[in-house]
Amino acid sequence: MNLSFTPKSGGTTGSKPEKVKVLILGSGPAGFSAALYAARAELAPVVVTGTTLGGQAALTHTIENYPGFPEGIGGSQLGDLFQKQAERFGARVVFGTATLVDLSKRPFLVKTDGGDFEADALILATGASPNKLEIPGEDLHTGKGVSYCATCDGFFFKEKKVVVIGGGDSALEEAIFLTRFASSVTIIHRRDEFRAGAILQNRIRQEPKIRLEMNTIPLAILGTDKVEGLMVKNVKSGVESKMDLDGVFVFIGHTPNVELFSGQLALDDHGYLKVDARMQTNVPGVFAAGEVADPYNRQVVTSAGMGAAAAIQATHFLQDQ
Ligand code: NAP
Repeated sequence: MNLSFTPKSGGTTGSKPEKVKVLILGSGPAGFSAALYAARAELAPVVVTGTTLGGQAALTHTIENYPGFPEGIGGSQLGDLFQKQAERFGARVVFGTATLVDLSKRPFLVKTDGGDFEADALILATGASPNKLEIPGEDLHTGKGVSYCATCDGFFFKEKKVVVIGGGDSALEEAIFLTRFASSVTIIHRRDEFRAGAILQNRIRQEPKIRLEMNTIPLAILGTDKVEGLMVKNVKSGVESKMDLDGVFVFIGHTPNVELFSGQLALDDHGYLKVDARMQTNVPGVFAAGEVADPYNRQVVTSAGMGAAAAIQATHFLQDQ
């Protein structure tokens, strides 16, 4: 699977928008599952891929917790299979990124750099992006010792030394998860108090494998072919030091990809798209699925389930029109 692409220059932008019944923004597990279900309902859905074909899942080396693959499957390979299955039933994939979404009109208007569309129903599966530290060595080692997903990658750090960066619920929860594999887990947090809830704080303090480095910020991730260490600084003393380790897990929050819908759709308290039990947003006919509407689970299987549910409900919505 190609993870990146050059959008077709111009596309059909500027010409009359193409009329579709269901338009899906995003090509991760939620987007392609929605496409599969909408295609099987003979709605001829169009999937606009976004910048990363296959979404965050496609960036994961091996996915070992998606049911049906007892030996695991490459993230990019699973994305390919999702795409093929949806296309087999008539879904069409458009390589491009949405640049404008106008929900004030019906049909909804969506402009993309692969063409413009008018859609009777929209399924938004634009995902969320993990926040990055933006320190030297981070990009170089992403997927080679730097990870944003303990559930995905923890297994590869059996009996290794890892650090977890962050002080929220995600960081503490994932640090506890990593103790199943790693020989030691050091949580590095920039303040002397955690943001995470009291229960998780109590749990990490009882974990013999977890060590805490409070008031500490990461400065640079070290190593050539793989992560070998981390330069850190104690913000109280100003002392800089080097930690020898094998893996850096970053949990400093996610940012849902909602910019395109700003001012048009209701968000929840975490800034994610707010959906009801039918995956519908506050605008009838606009559904959302996957990580753009889920601050908690962030799994391929849960996103795929949300995508399927959104497509089923979009089908009912269109039938009722
Ligand atoms: P979060 O609550 O926003 O916490 C992010 C953490 O990263 C904070 O401790 C923050 O430090 C730190 N941080 C931010 N930018 C940083 C940087 N550049 N360098 C170093 N550290 C940085 O994010 P989250 O933990 O992903 O949680 C998101 C939401 O989901 C929260 O509302 C959380 O309660 C919820 N959640 C709930 C559960 C659960 O209920 N089981 C599990 C996971 C998440 P500061 O504290 O100093 O700002």
